[in-house]
Amino acid sequence: MKKYSPSQLGYFEQCRLKFKFRYLDKVPVDKTETPIEFFLGSRVHEALKKLYKDQMFGRIPALEALLDYYNGVWKGNLSDKIKINSTEYGADDYRRRGEKMISDYYVHYHPFGQGRTLGLEMKVSAALPGDARIAGIVDRLVDIGGGRYEIHDYKTYATLKGAAEMEKDRQLFLYALAVFQQFPDAKRVDLVWHMLAFDREVRISKSLGELEKMGEATAQVIAVLEAAREYPPHVSALCGYCEYQRICPSWSHLFKVKALENEWMKEPAAVLVEKLSELKDEKKKSSEKMDEEMGKVEEAIIAFALDKGIDRVSGKSHIARVKSEEVVSFPPKGARQGLVEVLKSEGVWDDVSDLDMFALRRLLKEGKVDEGKIGEFETKETRRSVSLSKLKS
Ligand code: SF4
Repeated sequence: MKKYSPSQLGYFEQCRLKFKFRYLDKVPVDKTETPIEFFLGSRVHEALKKLYKDQMFGRIPALEALLDYYNGVWKGNLSDKIKINSTEYGADDYRRRGEKMISDYYVHYHPFGQGRTLGLEMKVSAALPGDARIAGIVDRLVDIGGGRYEIHDYKTYATLKGAAEMEKDRQLFLYALAVFQQFPDAKRVDLVWHMLAFDREVRISKSLGELEKMGEATAQVIAVLEAAREYPPHVSALCGYCEYQRICPSWSHLFKVKALENEWMKEPAAVLVEKLSELKDEKKKSSEKMDEEMGKVEEAIIAFALDKGIDRVSGKSHIARVKSEEVVSFPPKGARQGLVEVLKSEGVWDDVSDLDMFALRRLLKEGKVDEGKIGEFETKETRRSVSLSKLKS
């Protein structure tokens, strides 16, 4: 039986290529930076987990102690890898925002007697029609009593979301199905999203029948996912948040321009020209010197091989092969008429002759060939290069 997570299915539905990068190719993601919003969410979750964990051990921390705990984990985890996009607000503003969320929550729900916590960051898994399961983690599962359960989820969204939007969040509904399956006495499972920044909650409850229908729809998504053989990109507004944009064929061109940049790109053009001239001189000098040295060494190896009547000379790590071949030369251009006649009479002229492309280009340039007549054979491209010449002083 295969297990899937709602986020796996979410990736597949949003963009098959993104799903492939993440779950099939397992392309490593650059995790060098964490947005401050994620960081804030994690720290607030940790503080609320601490609150209910203490409660499970029979004590409720004072608000000040809980805030101390929060500030401790904030400080302990804060690093220069936390990315803040806002130019207006700094890390401390975000920290205080988290403090406010925790304080409001604490005051709202104190003394936290709304049911018995069964698990914190608890794993749940629901069996779906067919041969698949959907699995995930709930922030807090609560037994209210009398067959009523609640799944609590903490959200640190900066904008308030209402019931209509949370209805679209398949994840918690599938977890509710898991609770029905796991606890046979369950008559009702409420989903509670805590919109912490606004001290509000969104509550939704679905019947088991409704949840099972959602389970069927999810099983169909899984069937499509399992049958998929092609993973095309799906470009959307969400691409801006995609961690694979750099390697996505729909976007990678944007990054290639940057990849071409090198350390010289920042230098003034005049410096670049002088540097290029310097490098060319160095290369010329060193290659002339090298050619001369290599020629002398090759001469010495050939002399040794001829003297010994051998065609291979071994060194410590390499072997030199001395090749002897006869080189045939013919008269230069303009003095080949006799040779051409003989080749034509032998019937091999077509095999040895070829179009002189340099000459053709020159004739084209000089307008001696009608470009309109040979245009269909031409392919044009723009090649760019840099050549240097000395400035007159
Ligand atoms: S950038 Fe967009 S199209 Fe490309 S993989 Fe990511 S989500 Fe898909």
